[in-house]
Amino acid sequence: MKYHKVWSKSRRELFLACPRWWIIRYGINQGNWDRSTSKKWHSMSDIRPYWDLMLRSCKQTIFERLEDLQMNVEWSQLYTERRIRENLTNKLSQQQKIMSIHEIVGTKNAIDDNLELNNVNVENLLKNAIKRIDALWNTDIIQALTNRYHKQWMVFERTEYGSVNGIDLYCGPDIAVKMQNHWHLIRIDMQGKKDSCFEEEEAMAMVSWIRGKYNLPILANKFVIRIIAWRYGFWNQHRFNSSEQKLTQSTHLIESDINQMQIMLSKLGDDNSMSQIPLAKKTSTCRKCALRESCPGGSNLSSGIMQQSVLELAELS
Ligand code: SF4
Repeated sequence: MKYHKVWSKSRRELFLACPRWWIIRYGINQGNWDRSTSKKWHSMSDIRPYWDLMLRSCKQTIFERLEDLQMNVEWSQLYTERRIRENLTNKLSQQQKIMSIHEIVGTKNAIDDNLELNNVNVENLLKNAIKRIDALWNTDIIQALTNRYHKQWMVFERTEYGSVNGIDLYCGPDIAVKMQNHWHLIRIDMQGKKDSCFEEEEAMAMVSWIRGKYNLPILANKFVIRIIAWRYGFWNQHRFNSSEQKLTQSTHLIESDINQMQIMLSKLGDDNSMSQIPLAKKTSTCRKCALRESCPGGSNLSSGIMQQSVLELAELS
């Protein structure tokens, strides 16, 4: 079975956190799976805790506000709060629609309980989102944009793909700003994890995605990478210069990921058995996953991993 070569930071993160969840989310439609099972699992794999929906709504609102800023339309505080409320409400109701399908197949209550969807205070989520947006608008880079300090800048929603060596890349920057002779590629990371040792290589994928597009330079050293990540209650900023050497390292990382993903998909075998697909590395991943009911690691990850090893050995013997 061939994996359609697609790379993004979120796919990589999910693949590393739990290959089983990754297969169901991104690999399941690529093989000869039973259609009704694959549809149900696939839709369950995108059900998220409300916290994650808040982060997505927050990012969407930031994009909308930046796009309006480009058109010289500035938002009031009241309007910002209204937009974040509307975006979150839409996301919640879209998820409710998916959940109502699961009501029919009898998994909704289990998902509710597992993800604790009933115990969420939406007003607290909104407060959190507003705090993030307000703080972002006070950062030097957004202040420079609102004060019209930079003449050339662009906002990108990450729906457009780029490509490198036959791999589709979904990893554009959120904002690109021209400062003197360089283009600064900015990623806004809503839930910045502790520094990953591959943070630079992952971020350099933005250069592969953008260079040569929109009349931007081809040369890697014409770009500067800036990550604005929410960590420990603040927006932390991190920047580094781009170079051809870093770009090559980044491409190697992407190719190696795709290779690992293809190997993982081939472990499904012809009968689509998941017995050789590893489970999550941490229980915290399972706490956010709506597939727990159907997963050997769903209620107890360590015993699920043991059960999986026994199955794997039985299949190999
Ligand atoms: S319950 Fe845990 S191990 Fe199972 S698919 Fe979800 S994250 Fe992976």
